[in-house]
Amino acid sequence: MYYKHYGNTNMKVSAIGMGCMRYDAEDVKAENLEKCAEIALYAHEKGINYFDTAPFYCEDKSEIITGMALSQLPRDSYFISSKTNMGTVGGDHTAEDFRRRLETSLSRLKVDYLDFYHLWCVLSMDSFSKQCDALYRFFEDAKADGLIRNIVFSSHMQGTELEDAVEQDLFKGMLIGYNALNYRFRQSGIEAAHKKGMGVVVMNPLGGGLIPNNPETFRYLTEGTDLTVPQAALNFVASHKEITITLAGCTTKEHIDDACRAVENLKERPAREIYEEYEHKGVALNNLCTGCAYCKHCPKNIDIPKFMDAYNEKLLGNKMENRLKNHWHIPASQAAECIKCGKCERLCTQHLPIIERLDEIATTCAS
Ligand code: SF4
Ligand code: SF4
Repeated sequence: MYYKHYGNTNMKVSAIGMGCMRYDAEDVKAENLEKCAEIALYAHEKGINYFDTAPFYCEDKSEIITGMALSQLPRDSYFISSKTNMGTVGGDHTAEDFRRRLETSLSRLKVDYLDFYHLWCVLSMDSFSKQCDALYRFFEDAKADGLIRNIVFSSHMQGTELEDAVEQDLFKGMLIGYNALNYRFRQSGIEAAHKKGMGVVVMNPLGGGLIPNNPETFRYLTEGTDLTVPQAALNFVASHKEITITLAGCTTKEHIDDACRAVENLKERPAREIYEEYEHKGVALNNLCTGCAYCKHCPKNIDIPKFMDAYNEKLLGNKMENRLKNHWHIPASQAAECIKCGKCERLCTQHLPIIERLDEIATTCAS
């Protein structure tokens, strides 16, 4: 395993981190939690020492599973990260509400402290300011009490907004979505963070599955290597000097082996150099659905992530009607049931024009 320093801390972290939101769904449902925990233990055996979890992942069992695994290991052999925000804190966002949420995470993870605690899912600078005003002092108090070591944030903002967030000088690091599809739009953010001595952790390095699902489109990433397309996509991210950890969502031991293989011969390079090499290759898209499912509670029960996944196919030059019909087995006509309430667009981490896209699907695919 290749290791890097997390920002200006003395923490030596693995270049691949385990994203603990992909434990096997069937096992989670069947309460085979021990079986899921074996995956985290295997990751640790392979040298992965950074585990990223959160409340609600895997039907709210990710923290429990991860705790089940890591509590069998020496506490100084891994770093654990979890998350909170105004939504998870709930109540009136008092110090007590915040502590209750944090203590739940600590007890599920069976630890006395978290190495990284994220202000979770900041979608805009407006929400960044609001959440900092409401919660930041509670993070500081928890740190002073030894319950968390590093205060960090996770965000889906673009490069210039990330630069603004970094400028506030409040956080030790950040977690952002970054991959071969959207790097051009987020690069200035990671450069600014690196300059400030912050750690940068990357989620969604495979573009929500789009990269492995379209291997021919992304074959160029493998040039000069013997890596598979998904491995090359992980390597692409991990090789950025400005990026500390690339999270791989692992369901099986094979996924872990694949992710480890991706950084076996890692060569770190400045983001600028990578940009110049790939500038004229492949597709650059910043408007893809990542499948995060934050939008899924539609009052008309429209399965928005599936419709948006089909729209991704259109953006990649494929036929969206085929994806809806043959892969998802949902009628395009369902898109016309949207009442344009706007709830989904307010929740969308990628700020996608969901209503407009549903309209287009209803008119072009249903006819
Ligand atoms: S705007 Fe349409 S798709 Fe979005 S939540 Fe409302 S009804 Fe559902
Ligand atoms: S439409 Fe937006 S919120 Fe919904 S799954 Fe896609 S990226 Fe996530």
